[in-house]
Amino acid sequence: MGETFDYLKVFAGLPFAMRRFLQRPLTLDDAKRVVCERIQRREQNFLRSVEKNIYEYPRSPYLALLQLAGCELGDVRALVKDRGVEGTLRVLREAGVYITFEEFKGRKPLVRNGKTISIQPRDFDNPFAPRHFMVESGGSTGSGTNVGANLDYLAENAAHLILLLDTHQVRGIPTAVGVPILPGGGISFILQRSYLREATQRWYSLIGWRDTKRWLKYDLATLYILFWSNVFGGGVPMPTTIQPTEADKIARWMYEMLQREGRCLLFTSASLALRTCIAAEQAGLDLTGATVRVGGEPVTAAKVAAMERVGVRVFSGYGMVEAGGIGLGCAQPLGADDVHLSSDTFALITHPHRVESIGMTVPAFNLTTLMDTAPKVMLNFQSDDYGIVEERRCGCPLEAYGFTTHLREIRSYSKMLGEAVTLIGNEMLRILEDVLPARFGGTPLDYQLLEAEDEQGLTRLYLVIHPRIEIADEQQVIDAMLDGMRASSPTADAARAMWQHAQTIRIKRAEPQITARGKFSPLRKE
Ligand SMILES: [Zn+2]
Repeated sequence: MGETFDYLKVFAGLPFAMRRFLQRPLTLDDAKRVVCERIQRREQNFLRSVEKNIYEYPRSPYLALLQLAGCELGDVRALVKDRGVEGTLRVLREAGVYITFEEFKGRKPLVRNGKTISIQPRDFDNPFAPRHFMVESGGSTGSGTNVGANLDYLAENAAHLILLLDTHQVRGIPTAVGVPILPGGGISFILQRSYLREATQRWYSLIGWRDTKRWLKYDLATLYILFWSNVFGGGVPMPTTIQPTEADKIARWMYEMLQREGRCLLFTSASLALRTCIAAEQAGLDLTGATVRVGGEPVTAAKVAAMERVGVRVFSGYGMVEAGGIGLGCAQPLGADDVHLSSDTFALITHPHRVESIGMTVPAFNLTTLMDTAPKVMLNFQSDDYGIVEERRCGCPLEAYGFTTHLREIRSYSKMLGEAVTLIGNEMLRILEDVLPARFGGTPLDYQLLEAEDEQGLTRLYLVIHPRIEIADEQQVIDAMLDGMRASSPTADAARAMWQHAQTIRIKRAEPQITARGKFSPLRKE
């Protein structure tokens, strides 16, 4: 009942909020001024957010952590004066004031100093931020965490988008955005473009209508937002839903725009961008003149090299549904995923984190929101990512706006297992298609390596074997697979050592799954 009422309230308020949002566009000069002011007022903004969203909000999990650390608001103020924002965050981190990814998602209880603090994922919501629509993180499956998006926050962050587009000289050119419809968070990019009066010609979504669990609610919400944004001149195109195998549609649209205008922009995830470029290559389409902004998943040098083969220019973005855009692609990058931290709205420190599943310690990102409009309040939120954080002079325009902190080689530590599979894909195929059928019987269609989350949300690898194959000792199959990896490349052998150590692989007796379109893939992700 409460949820339905909230939902209706959100619906009723949207037209007014949308009108306000689209009334006055943000210009490039506005954006430069806003960012400059925010960088100057960074410490005050941080303190205001801590005061309002944490100390004045009894349900805040951070308040419990700060109290446990014996830290009053006056102490935080004194720390900031003494050591600045990052220095304060490091002191707090050492004192146990942080939240891990699993705690944030409600997958693990919050325990500090032997004391369990009772929390719900919604306790991280900003109590004072309006909710204009709902998105979900990990939204492709509809089982993620709810995040209330608000247009005020989108407007504040649009300053970053216009500076980014200007830096890469892709303003005012034909643009396609490849992001999922709701509950995916990508609609925010499209609305921000509307706010900046940057037209979006095409919207491609890999989530189809009626694809998600609560499709009725989300499909209606998508159409409702689209309707009201267009009433007030937003110019949002109707989403075109496509399958991953239909990326050639995007490639053809880009090719057409290049013929007509000589330039175009594709704003999408790293994997959909790669699929588009591969489709272009296979169709013999030269995409020279096109720019691709990739984000949402690790952007590796190999992926960028494969995209550049069809002539596109690539730059990166870094963000998360819960926080919006965090990193802006550098125009003089050191590596494929080099981004400038949006340091006017975020602070980021790293903390050594031991990843038990692979026996490695990584510099984990701890993110803090500085704006009091952020939909989720973050104070040393140890997201699932790690990477290099450094102060560097690159000479690109983003540096001149005051963004001097760079993030690069960003990876997700809970997905490391899966990435290892991608890295050794071909060798793994040989094992699944040749080695195992030769030794235990059956055909290549009887073995599949499935990457899935277990009941605790940890990534696991399952070797799925068709029940018709008779196996006396399951461990023998695992050993045969690991032996096959040992005999392959050094990379495969390193992955083997990691998996063996962590006992990552489990056997699952079931029929290997095919995709909705009837395709069989020996390596599958759930
Ligand atoms: Zn730069």
